[in-house]
Amino acid sequence: MKEVKTISLEFFPPREEAAREKLAEAARELVARRPAYVSVTYGAGGSTRAGTADTVRLMQSLGMDTAPHLSCIGSSRAELVEILDGYRAQGIRRIVALRGDLPSGMGRYLGEVHYANELVALIREHSGDWFHIEVAAYPEVHPQAASAAKDLDHFVAKVQAGANGAITQYFFNIDAYFDFVDRAQARGVDIPITPGIMPITNYTQLARFSKMCGAEIPRWLAARLVDFGDDRASLHAFGADFIARMSQRLLDQGAPGLHFYTLNNADATLAVWNQLSVS
Ligand code: FAD
Repeated sequence: MKEVKTISLEFFPPREEAAREKLAEAARELVARRPAYVSVTYGAGGSTRAGTADTVRLMQSLGMDTAPHLSCIGSSRAELVEILDGYRAQGIRRIVALRGDLPSGMGRYLGEVHYANELVALIREHSGDWFHIEVAAYPEVHPQAASAAKDLDHFVAKVQAGANGAITQYFFNIDAYFDFVDRAQARGVDIPITPGIMPITNYTQLARFSKMCGAEIPRWLAARLVDFGDDRASLHAFGADFIARMSQRLLDQGAPGLHFYTLNNADATLAVWNQLSVS
């Protein structure tokens, strides 16, 4: 039987009214393409708790299987359990479980659950098998990891704690992804590891973001993107073609699906998705 590839989409909770309207429009447009599920990010320490809850409700109102992200750093166990119970009561069956990064200005309270493997264990202990749990994976190594080997150990710990699937940090080098999958599988990991896909629409923003999260922009790609300067239309077209070619290679060579970081922008994701043959 032919394997079905899953396309999932990630959104973030908007801060302002105008951005809320834009998100609702983008979500309607993208949901019409029937993704497998959508996910909604969550600021560590509860910094977007209300916004995440609102966005989750919006996605559910559009009929989507919705996976709220939940980050544990900066939260007490009681807070995390309250959020889990709320989601369960709302009929949520999926969670993306993360450590998170505390936003600056949130103080130094680290909370009671310090790493994602502890959060996965807490979810399993409290909610049994109610939630399908996705965790994060870092083909190019998490920026704070002591070593690539230790980072893999920590990834394996999340899987052993009960994760059902993983979504990667975005990357532009497919060898890093397949190398990570091979190394995880050699350690007995058999859950799907889905590539996270970042559409390219703005070089300055992408470079800043990539530095923070440890994603490498290959030198040749950075040079091509810089050359477009203020010609945004050409940059968008080049970016969409590049990401679509990379995504198709990932799918053709065995990736179980794709998870798009939509940044609440339907056009950028559709410019890639429309070029893919996904079966
Ligand atoms: P962990 O798996 O806990 O790892 C964090 C670091 O600690 C790694 O370097 C790891 O090697 C190390 N480590 C892990 N366990 C241990 C241990 N037991 N002892 C010592 N070291 C250990 N952030 C948000 O705030 N909100 C979001 O909604 C969000 N969504 C994301 C979605 C995806 C798909 C991805 C890839 C990232 C997302 N992030 C989000 C960012 C993420 O929170 C950060 O990358 C964060 O720094 C690490 O989170 P993690 O869950 O991977 O942490």
